[in-house]
Amino acid sequence: MSKRPIEPFRIKVTEPISLIEPKEREKRIAEAGYNIFQLAAKDIFIDLLTDSGTGALSQNQMAALMTGDESYAGGRNWYHFEETIKDIFQKKHVLPCHQGRVAENIFFSIVLKQGDYVPNNTHFDTTRANVMHKGGIPVDFPCKQLKEEGSEFPFKGNIDCEKLEEFIGKTGVSKIPLIVLTSTNNSAGGLPVSMANIAELRSLCDKYGIMLVYDAARFAENAYFIKKHEPGYENSSVKEIAHKMNGYADAVLMSAKKDGLSNMGGFMAVNDEALAGKLKELLIIIEGFPTYGGLNGRDLESVAIGLKESLNDDYLTHRIGQISWLGDLLRQAGLPIIYPTGGHAVFIDAGKLLPHIKPEFFPGQSLVVELYRQGGVRGVEIGSLMFGGVDPNTGQKLTALKELVRLAIPRRMYTASHLEYVAEVAAEIVKDKEKLKGYEILDSPTYLRHFTCTMREVAGSPVKLASS
Ligand SMILES: *Cc1c(COP(=O)(O)O)cnc(C)c1O
Repeated sequence: MSKRPIEPFRIKVTEPISLIEPKEREKRIAEAGYNIFQLAAKDIFIDLLTDSGTGALSQNQMAALMTGDESYAGGRNWYHFEETIKDIFQKKHVLPCHQGRVAENIFFSIVLKQGDYVPNNTHFDTTRANVMHKGGIPVDFPCKQLKEEGSEFPFKGNIDCEKLEEFIGKTGVSKIPLIVLTSTNNSAGGLPVSMANIAELRSLCDKYGIMLVYDAARFAENAYFIKKHEPGYENSSVKEIAHKMNGYADAVLMSAKKDGLSNMGGFMAVNDEALAGKLKELLIIIEGFPTYGGLNGRDLESVAIGLKESLNDDYLTHRIGQISWLGDLLRQAGLPIIYPTGGHAVFIDAGKLLPHIKPEFFPGQSLVVELYRQGGVRGVEIGSLMFGGVDPNTGQKLTALKELVRLAIPRRMYTASHLEYVAEVAAEIVKDKEKLKGYEILDSPTYLRHFTCTMREVAGSPVKLASS
């Protein structure tokens, strides 16, 4: 069992939070159509919806906000932003944008044709939606160990290069303009990718002349896992490891709301000059002039500083320590989780916890609603609600690999006692878990339905309903 993670900071500014009454919570969640994205944040006590843009800024970032240069073109913060990213990510051209999904939108608009395949270790939801929106077909190649119950393999975020090569053989290279590697692998438990796996993927890309693109939202967390668990890296600094990792990619897309330790921001970074030129044209149409790309000067500064802070050893030890500690508390309380834990969240296996609710009635959503009801805790379903439905291009029925609930930990925000409280709420739910019911969707948009759909509790036993 891991040790209580002691915060490597003290608190200088506070933000009050409060737990509203159970009756109030019941009313709020019903009004939200049982969709936690529709709740007002003020009605939530501990918000583990996402680690995206929700973290605390450091005193250096706060101070730097006052140095924001809001010039339309060539502001001073842009040069700091560009220089920092060129260094950490080893790329020649940097294009700022206001968040990761815009990087995806612009990048895929340029590189994808209708009917192209995009392999990935596992697509994150906005990446999947952006690929599909440009007429591409997302295909996931998670490694074998991910499905091996009881395996403590530390790099379950790896991509399955063998399966991938078979796929390339079958499909033909002309249909695969790029391969994306998501590190850490968010939708597969936030688990890391090993350096050996990255090198193997690089060779595969070289062999077939395919572009290698990183979805680098959590590159620093990934580098930390390599230092901790991959032989040969124990004496390298996290920064050196990040350099080496990033050097393998032809292009990087990043949401700086994660390891950029900022509330907003993102970028594309590429080596190819012609590609950079095309991206820049579209960037100007969609986001703005290429020295701000939809961001304030002060935001560019925050990201530049945040990217450097994310590679700090004390910060990463505490951060990853928080996740594994919460994971241990939940396991002690009898919750099945993805184990070992990854970099930014604990993923509870709601499919296993609630076998009486079939995937089509969203066991993950049932647990998410109950966490709010019982303790004002907000997590998010990562299962058939997020990834199910019908592919609007192919008409194929989509299913999720697992029915998970993600408890994402915002960076530098919650203390060990907050996390203990979350584990206590979860323990209460486990005691009465047979009473939890399934959900069905009332109305739903085509893309990213989990953000806006409304639902209702399925009356009676979901098992009976599923078979009727
Ligand atoms: C958050 C995230 C994105 C999208 O970034 P946004 O800033 O939310 O638009 C893409 N990929 C991964 C792996 C992410 O975690």
